Amino acid sequence: MQTSHEFPARLVQAIRQVCGTDPVPLHAPTFAGQEWAYVKDCLDSTFVSSVGAYVDRFEDELAGFTGARHAVAVVNGTAALHVALLLAGVQRDDEVLLPALTFVATANAVHYCGATPHFVDSQRETLGMDPSALRDWLKHSSEQRDGVCINKQTGRPIRALLPMHTFGHPCDMAGLMEVAGEFRLTLVEDAAESLGSSYQGQQTGTLGKIGILSFNGNKTITTGGGGALLTNDTALARRAKHLTTTAKQAHRWEFEHDEIGFNYRLPNINAALGCAQLEQLPGFLASKRRLHDKYRDVLAGIPEVSLVSEPVGCHSNYWLQALMLGDQIASQRDEVLAATNSAGLMTRPVWNLMHRQRPYQNCPRAPLPVAEYLAQRLVNIPSSAGLA
Ligand SMILES: *Cc1c(COP(=O)(O)O)cnc(C)c1O
Repeated sequence: MQTSHEFPARLVQAIRQVCGTDPVPLHAPTFAGQEWAYVKDCLDSTFVSSVGAYVDRFEDELAGFTGARHAVAVVNGTAALHVALLLAGVQRDDEVLLPALTFVATANAVHYCGATPHFVDSQRETLGMDPSALRDWLKHSSEQRDGVCINKQTGRPIRALLPMHTFGHPCDMAGLMEVAGEFRLTLVEDAAESLGSSYQGQQTGTLGKIGILSFNGNKTITTGGGGALLTNDTALARRAKHLTTTAKQAHRWEFEHDEIGFNYRLPNINAALGCAQLEQLPGFLASKRRLHDKYRDVLAGIPEVSLVSEPVGCHSNYWLQALMLGDQIASQRDEVLAATNSAGLMTRPVWNLMHRQRPYQNCPRAPLPVAEYLAQRLVNIPSSAGLA
């Protein structure tokens, strides 16, 4: 029996069996397709900004891939979230339910609407919002007034439910859709991390009223910076496009804006990159799944950790591979991070929980025992598609 202080060294050895001995980042993009050709074509056309053929093509191909009726491309995932929440009817002094275990952009977008984030707990199996804990919490802390869900403590309307598919693993969407219906909440999906993941055969980002994607440099496909809204609602898609292009009315020369919009449209040059990346997405997804299988094999010999796998009934894009530290070594998370990073293997803990971040520490929240459990134990390991 090996003693526990040998454990981080055995873990480093196992990860090196997959990644090799050179330094390796957490997630690097792969540019192995038509990137140079499309970007050059875009420059040659002189249409590099908010008008151009690649933006329209990228939107069509995103809709085609995800099965959403419409995709609207924007400058980043955070901007997509901001507009998605506005279109979901989120107003100043509303509250929006979201997991405490998420990237800060999810909470920031709520704040940009003048609304308050209201944090809820996650599930061990999915790493996403827990519908049954959520139902219990809302039963006890909210009431319905004129068809609106009201937080009894603050008196504010709880307008929307904003689950996030952690590391690409789909949430329990059937459960969450049921709770949304029961408490009359609009469901918006933060699918920033889960392009290519599906829940019972349907792509994430297309299950709620609106979903959003991110194409930041560290995501499954990248446009440098970029994002998109997905929806099956044609009127909402039209509103999304209008709001993200300064709310300018179409006219041959007049500058007439019918509301206060945003300059959130994805530039054509970024969309050119996106078109090239999207062509490689099926290959990236297959590589990421292969990488997961390789890690599973080498980690089978390390009982102190388990590898996070896709939930039952789901297909994950395996954007980021994650270790779950066992109870016996949960207190050694920082030793694991130090040993792996010192060995040139970039690893990261999951995000600090939102209610512990200074701007959000006074926001309403449900009990968060599972989020606390996961925050202590989740460690991301190198996940680039190129590693497989
Ligand atoms: C990446 C990410 C975003 C934001 O995307 P950006 O394109 O970086 O603005 C939002 N939510 C989650 C959960 C993310 O991981």
